[in-house]
Amino acid sequence: MNLNQVRVLAIIAFASIQLQAFSQYNYYFGTIHAHSGYSDGNKDSLTSFMSMPYEDFEYAKHSLHMDYLGISEHNHSGAGMQLANYHRGVRQADSANQEGSFVSLYGMEWGEIASGGHVVVYGFDSLIGWETNNYDIFNAQTDYTGLFAKIAHHPGAFGYFAHPTNSDYNAIYTSPYNAVSDSAIIGTPFRSGPAFSTDTLYSDPSTGNYLTRFYDALKAGYHLGIGMDHDTHYSVFGRSQKGRTVVLADTLTRSAILDAYRSMRFYASDDWNAQISFTANGHTMGQIITEAGSPNLSISVIDPDGESNSSITIFYGIPGSGVAPTALTSVSSSLSLNYTPAIANGTSYYYFARILQADGDQIYTSPIWYTRSDFVAVPELALPAIQYFTITPNPSNGEFMYSFTTSVRLNLMLDVYTAEGKQVYHHPVPPTNGMYAEQVQLPTLAKGIYLIRLSGEGLQQMQKMIIE
Ligand SMILES: [Zn+2]
Ligand SMILES: [Zn+2]
Repeated sequence: MNLNQVRVLAIIAFASIQLQAFSQYNYYFGTIHAHSGYSDGNKDSLTSFMSMPYEDFEYAKHSLHMDYLGISEHNHSGAGMQLANYHRGVRQADSANQEGSFVSLYGMEWGEIASGGHVVVYGFDSLIGWETNNYDIFNAQTDYTGLFAKIAHHPGAFGYFAHPTNSDYNAIYTSPYNAVSDSAIIGTPFRSGPAFSTDTLYSDPSTGNYLTRFYDALKAGYHLGIGMDHDTHYSVFGRSQKGRTVVLADTLTRSAILDAYRSMRFYASDDWNAQISFTANGHTMGQIITEAGSPNLSISVIDPDGESNSSITIFYGIPGSGVAPTALTSVSSSLSLNYTPAIANGTSYYYFARILQADGDQIYTSPIWYTRSDFVAVPELALPAIQYFTITPNPSNGEFMYSFTTSVRLNLMLDVYTAEGKQVYHHPVPPTNGMYAEQVQLPTLAKGIYLIRLSGEGLQQMQKMIIE
């Protein structure tokens, strides 16, 4: 390598550090709730001459600050949907999609308002329905729990609440927490609509406000992000308003956009190009993390139009506590906020941010769920006095054998924690020296990943175990 090559590398390294100082992702602007003439949309087709998804995607490509559009057709004939047209729509989205410049997505808005609510669904190339000869995959009309299970078990699929009321989706907000439904649902709107806007001058902002349902879901223990939806029914795709769901992704490809939605890496913005970075210890919005120490929360805002903020506020709450989130801290007239709330070891919180811009625009980020667990960061190699800590079988059904070797006589405890850091089992190990093995039967636990900790006398060893 000569000196010039070294210089080039140094410049590249410097440039990438500059970018990462703000965000490791690119920002893509769009919405995933719209209808074509196949399901109650393009209501002005006689004058717009647009009625099919392909035409709608082509229109949206030329709208300002639109990098992607998802058309979410009603899934039933009452709103015009016929199975053959659903398959046509899938093919049209494929041909309209332009990797790298505009992403076209095709999905459905499942259900009826009067029968339990609307769920936006993506990731299936099949129509899910209940009407004779009008579905690829059957799901009874009022069975939302069944719908969520189908989504959860379909790789790459996700559900997103359309315009929720507090009794929707088999009363999901007030029923006991359902982990399968939680894994299926990745988002809910801050705003949706106006669904019947005919404006094409970006001047008909959404006034609906579904924050209370976002709060209800967090209160009930669900993990979901927050977006901004148009629910377009006229030929105005991307132009009725400036509101956007902003996705953080590496590239503007269909797989990257869908992956970002599934990862809850998005935010709801009244503004059409504001870039928000929200992290906890460097982890981006949407993540569920367990780390040692208190979380360093960091928010920064870049608006290419140079708009200023009137405030940034961090909200927080306890997942599944039944209590709504409240404001934690706030800053006025700043484009950034850094804050580290002191939290106790073993506790769990979620955090999200609201940015109020000087022109009144509101922006809500998806949350970060943070569990403080100080033992996870201790390197195992620093603890030579316990060796060969093993768990077998793994995965197990809750009955397993653990074994280890010590060089000195130790008083140890065996503890089992959920991935969120909640202790579910505690067992004193008989004082021992040398090799020790014991069979353990855990109480009945939900399937998932657990942490097994062997600890005592300032020492500890960790193993992950899957229960299935
Ligand atoms: Zn709807
Ligand atoms: Zn709709």
